Amino acid sequence: MTETTKSKRPEPLQAVKGMNDILPPESARWEWFEAKVRALMARYAYANLRTPIVEPTALFVRGIGEVTDIVEKEMYSFVDAMNGDKLTLRPEHTAGIVRAMVEHNALYNGPIRIWATGAVFRHERPQKGRYRQFHQIDVEALGFAGPDVDAEQILMCRALWRDLGLGDSDVRLELNSLGQPSERMAHRAALIAHFEAHAEVLDDEAKRRLHSNPLRILDAKNPAMQAVVEAAPQLMDFLGEASLAHLNSVRAVLDAAGLPYRINPRLVRGMDYYNLTVFEWVTDKLGSQGTVCGGGRYDGLFEQLGGKPTPAVGWGMGVERMLLLLEAVGVLPPTNASDVYAIVPSAEAMTTAMTTCEALRAAGVNVQMHAAGADSWGGMKGQFKRADASGARFALVFGADELARGEVALKSLRDADAQQRAVKLAEVAVWAAELRNA
Ligand code: ATP
Ligand code: MG
Repeated sequence: MTETTKSKRPEPLQAVKGMNDILPPESARWEWFEAKVRALMARYAYANLRTPIVEPTALFVRGIGEVTDIVEKEMYSFVDAMNGDKLTLRPEHTAGIVRAMVEHNALYNGPIRIWATGAVFRHERPQKGRYRQFHQIDVEALGFAGPDVDAEQILMCRALWRDLGLGDSDVRLELNSLGQPSERMAHRAALIAHFEAHAEVLDDEAKRRLHSNPLRILDAKNPAMQAVVEAAPQLMDFLGEASLAHLNSVRAVLDAAGLPYRINPRLVRGMDYYNLTVFEWVTDKLGSQGTVCGGGRYDGLFEQLGGKPTPAVGWGMGVERMLLLLEAVGVLPPTNASDVYAIVPSAEAMTTAMTTCEALRAAGVNVQMHAAGADSWGGMKGQFKRADASGARFALVFGADELARGEVALKSLRDADAQQRAVKLAEVAVWAAELRNA
């Protein structure tokens, strides 16, 4: 490369604002978390589903339903320049999952339990615990009408907290019932009447929401409106017998399982499709981004998306917020360093080192082998430094003298007093067992 082409090197690019790279060693925490989640899903018999990240915009902007924050101002929507299709980067998993279930008639043989994970996108103001690309774990029980699955999904969360090493005081459960659409309509009318009678204290956002989504006004943070918000009619008082019975069944299971919760009559969810059970898991340890998981029942969504009436319930969990919480509480996973770092002092030793490392890997040992530079293997001292920094428990030295005797030197990197010892190349299988991280 000449000097002139070098000087034309472009400015390096940066990731899109609010969208993060997840580098090692941080990525090891993600893998650890995901492994716990996968094991949990297997224990509760939830099957994995993968849907596209890009969906038709119409999936999220539906003809009926309330105007939500997400649809109103947080969606990444665009027109496909090739064919004019209106597309959206999924802002959540549920709608795509329901679309897929209807499209493939997946409930033909009866109800199913599904889980999914992956990136979702919302155009929000980035801050700690709030990003424009983030990741959710998502759980859905499709075709189940009873309160038992609502309770099951809440208990699953508690099981995960325990698997992760979180304590009972680190996350707490808030529960509410949104009743059925007819009950909500009656409540909505009473709510609008109440807020209209106090129109003078409403801010612009509340006025805007008054007829589009008055329930969201209950969520308003404006202190000047607090008294009026608190005096507002409560949905709980509009619930009929069946809705109350559903809520009480969920409560009975939680009580029997010794899982404490708070009934929060002001808990409303950001999506328009919920009915009956809604819940959130919240923590005090993440400031205003304190909701780590939220969910509830959405018996009307299948019909809204053109499917047969199908009861369903699910939750979504923010992976970034979960990892921030684990860090705040000091629950950190073990690092996933290799078992062995192979030190290769010369080109002559490379082939033997390679085949020995392959034999070790085949025996289940995790091996990082030193790789040569363009013109040298680097000194022994430098390689030992790298071996230490790698976090490996053992160094395996392919020195010329040892190799001449059909041996390699094995040295503990954790125990400074342990002597280096020679092991026979011909007996790899024997000492491999000792090196394997159980
Ligand atoms: P919030 O009130 O914090 O905006 P939400 O009600 O919009 O949350 P949901 O739509 O229920 O959130 O999504 C489920 C979970 O995803 C949340 O409980 C949270 O843990 C996480 N989450 C939501 N928005 C973001 C974001 N912008 N960045 C990171 N995590 C998020
Ligand atoms: Mg939100």
